[in-house]
Amino acid sequence: MNYSVKLSSITPSATSTLNTLTKELIKEGKSIINLSIGEPDFETPDYIKEAAKKAIDEGITRYTENQGFFQLRKSISDKLKRDNHMAYSPYEIVVSNGAKHSLYNIFQALLNPGDEVIIQSPYWVSYPEMIKLAAGNPVIIKTNTINQFKMKPEQIREVITPKTKIILLNSPSNPTGSVYSKEELMEIGNIAIKHDLYIVSDEIYEKLIFDDKHTSIASLSNELFNRTITVNGVSKAYAMTGWRIGYIATTRDLANTITSFQSHSTSNPSSISQMAAIAALEGPESSVIQMKERYKKRRDLMCELINDIMDTRLCVPKGAFYIFPDISGWLKPLGKQSCVEVAQWLLEECGVAAIPGAAFGSPGYIRFSFATSEENIQRAFASIKEKIEKNN
Ligand code: PLP
Repeated sequence: MNYSVKLSSITPSATSTLNTLTKELIKEGKSIINLSIGEPDFETPDYIKEAAKKAIDEGITRYTENQGFFQLRKSISDKLKRDNHMAYSPYEIVVSNGAKHSLYNIFQALLNPGDEVIIQSPYWVSYPEMIKLAAGNPVIIKTNTINQFKMKPEQIREVITPKTKIILLNSPSNPTGSVYSKEELMEIGNIAIKHDLYIVSDEIYEKLIFDDKHTSIASLSNELFNRTITVNGVSKAYAMTGWRIGYIATTRDLANTITSFQSHSTSNPSSISQMAAIAALEGPESSVIQMKERYKKRRDLMCELINDIMDTRLCVPKGAFYIFPDISGWLKPLGKQSCVEVAQWLLEECGVAAIPGAAFGSPGYIRFSFATSEENIQRAFASIKEKIEKNN
């Protein structure tokens, strides 16, 4: 095979690999409880589905503006004003095929070969790969349960070089559910201002915060507004992962550059999904609130059950739908060498699919998703507990 050098440095998404393996085992008839999922288990609310059906019936089935329908960008602009206190015009917004696509576009637009992007580990699996695809270098700051999975300002200062271009933030975080406070964001923002860096703020889990309040870093000052690219979308909040709608808010100049790039790769996202996204953003928030309440219950349940198993250090997630416990205390009793071996053991012995922390740059941890029913969570941890007790 003679593939491009660029792609040879990319590692396949560990989360999708495990998902595929899990689906295969299920197809073979094995009973697997899937706690590896990265998407809501709820249905897209009916009023959103209806808007999509209406779009089809009304023939809204053609190419749209590459940047996304003006009407959708207006809805996003209104949302950013209402929820995040940020004044972006529809011309400063670009709609793409999911927030993942939005992030990909940003790195392609901003990075030159060798430019550095500061990210924290544990990180969402696609960040380092997307940065490398844009010829950039991910510079990773390690965080852990002790510092609540949050970067300290001094850690950031230590890794800044003349090549640093972007600080990437993800609050609430996948995989840890950690949430940065306004004060913490301000401190990071001041570093970005001092060193003239861009901030990319991935706020895709914004609506799923249980205890804290979400703060958009771009809302904190004019200086931060001007250097921040805010990323969001409808996938997680409205249970719309398959519809593929994400967006960025930035300067008009960068929005135009990214639109031009997008026009030569994917053009506009689906016209039907765009109409559904308008309904999501303009509709009642009650379904989002109901889903959030359910996630909160499941989070509390999962924390309680994990605490009941062996030596597990846990940081209660404040948002998103993942728990990322430190399971290094499990290795010796289970006779395992790594979190990857523990994940395999969980799948094969306990019938529970979860993702090893190594996939997120943090060996010694496991990511359990609580985007599944309370019953599944109860069954999964009963099975793990039983197998652990048998081992001891
Ligand atoms: N950012 C983070 C942190 C995510 O976890 C995900 C999805 O898992 C995305 C972005 C991408 O979301 P979308 O479905 O909108 O592409």
